[in-house]
Amino acid sequence: MDTPKTDSNFIREMIDKDLAAGKNAGRVHTRFPPEPNGYLHIGHAKSICLNYGIARDYNGKFNLRFDDTNPCKEEQEYVDSMIEDVEWLGADWEDRLFYASDYFQEMYQYAVELIKKKKAYVCDQSLDEVRKYRGTITEPGKNSPFRDRIVEENLDLFERMRKGEFPDGAKTLRAKIDMSHPNLLMRDPVMYRILHAEHHRTGSKWCIYPMYDWAHGLEDSVEKITHSICTMEFETHRRLYDWFLDELGVNHARQIEFARLNLSHTILSKRKLLELVDEGYVSGWDDPRMPTICGMRRRGYTPESVKDFCRCIGVSKMNSVIDMVVLENCIRAELNRTAPRVMSVLDPVKVVITNYPEGQSEELDAINNPEDPEAGTRKVPFSRELYIERADFMEDPPKKFFRLTLNREVRLRYAYFITCREVIKDDGGNITEIHCTYDPATRGGDAPDGRKVKGTLHWVSAKDAVAAEVRVYDHLFAVRDPNKTEEGKAFLSNLNPGSLTVLKKCYIEPSIKGAAPGSRYQFERLGYFNVDPKDTTDAKLVFNRIVSLKDTWAKVYKQS
Ligand code: ATP
Ligand code: MG
Repeated sequence: MDTPKTDSNFIREMIDKDLAAGKNAGRVHTRFPPEPNGYLHIGHAKSICLNYGIARDYNGKFNLRFDDTNPCKEEQEYVDSMIEDVEWLGADWEDRLFYASDYFQEMYQYAVELIKKKKAYVCDQSLDEVRKYRGTITEPGKNSPFRDRIVEENLDLFERMRKGEFPDGAKTLRAKIDMSHPNLLMRDPVMYRILHAEHHRTGSKWCIYPMYDWAHGLEDSVEKITHSICTMEFETHRRLYDWFLDELGVNHARQIEFARLNLSHTILSKRKLLELVDEGYVSGWDDPRMPTICGMRRRGYTPESVKDFCRCIGVSKMNSVIDMVVLENCIRAELNRTAPRVMSVLDPVKVVITNYPEGQSEELDAINNPEDPEAGTRKVPFSRELYIERADFMEDPPKKFFRLTLNREVRLRYAYFITCREVIKDDGGNITEIHCTYDPATRGGDAPDGRKVKGTLHWVSAKDAVAAEVRVYDHLFAVRDPNKTEEGKAFLSNLNPGSLTVLKKCYIEPSIKGAAPGSRYQFERLGYFNVDPKDTTDAKLVFNRIVSLKDTWAKVYKQS
């Protein structure tokens, strides 16, 4: 990751203080600990950039750790995709790729220690009873009738739980803290539950699995993490992590919480994204409309643009919703500098230049990238029959329409001035051809007599253009916060029915031939597009619109 050094923030200030106070012998060690129960999204990118950025800037270390303590929802497919995504973002864990499941034996040993210290007990209450006994914020809980089991009995039962002598849910191991503690998480939380389930790494070796709150602090402890950076919802859990680690007298990370990223018009929750995939609302985790890292990669986002976004939103403890426009501006700014320009017509109508000789053609010079003089020029073929955008012609134009209409002269970019002479229609009244004449003296796009035209259109030569399918995306959800729904409705009711438009008959200038999958272009006047790396074949060229040329929402917001 070679992004510029991140601006300071409250987390870095806390680390500076720890270093100044000589804590952790000057070490800084962070981690990114995803649960492999889905694909990573842009919220995770924020956490990765934050954790890795700190390790990098403080000459510290960064671990990638799979928090795979829940056997039911976790799969190898998710692990593999997460590795790919973290790598793509350029966060380097060197040789420190870990799995929480590698620590199951150590965790078990630590649990035995707590039992011996009379700080944990085996409880026969069902999950329902545990819940009932817990009390509420205003009422204290009640002790479990099994709370005072003696150490020997607890050790024996816990070992038998492990050996598989009891069915799922029959018993749990619980911490013995305080059933009237004001923090409900401290009311004898469950540490282990019985679950006869296959685990993606440990197979059927274990039939008891650690609860997240018990496991998480220990994982950081085992890896000697110095700063355990997590999202705000874990603030209330910190007390419990501290209790476990203090009772065990083991290495302690400092936990620092920050506000999770919320992005407008989308959803950042693996569970809900999984629902979109499973129910077929999108084509997969890598659907270009998804806020997943793989979806954004397929859409044409670069790692730099994602990192740029994470840097520019900063970190704080305040929850807020970042507008999608901020993300789009990051990729737009990058592609404006780097993307080669080509001409492409997405909704074609034929133009015939009636005074251009049949069978003749020529090549005109076009600038590859006006923002980058090094990018040079290319040749674009011109001939008697062309395509222009249907929307660039109007028979009865409104006042401010400066594009083509009958008897008006406009410029074809890099080519000639043309004047519309006649419109040909089919029986249904649809325009099938627009007949124009060109002025040979305007070659290159300027008139020697200095006369001006108001409109400049993009175009392609009909016989030379390459056919392509273009997929144009809009927000996946029609509302700013899809989690807010009308009463009784699911978040799915907020999906935007117009989030995908497939244009099957598009034409692109021939220089596009041989474009590599994933490569990015500006289609002049239309936006930034990439060659879809998945659906493009030798026979079919597919493009995704990454982002429009301008922020089309800016106007809307200005008005409101
Ligand atoms: P999800 O609800 O999408 O499953 P999660 O928090 O349960 O998210 P984890 O796999 O546990 O997902 O997350 C790994 C790390 O990423 C955690 O440290 C978590 O705090 C962080 N993270 C998850 N979502 C966001 C977000 N929207 N913004 C910032 N960090 C996030
Ligand atoms: Mg989770």
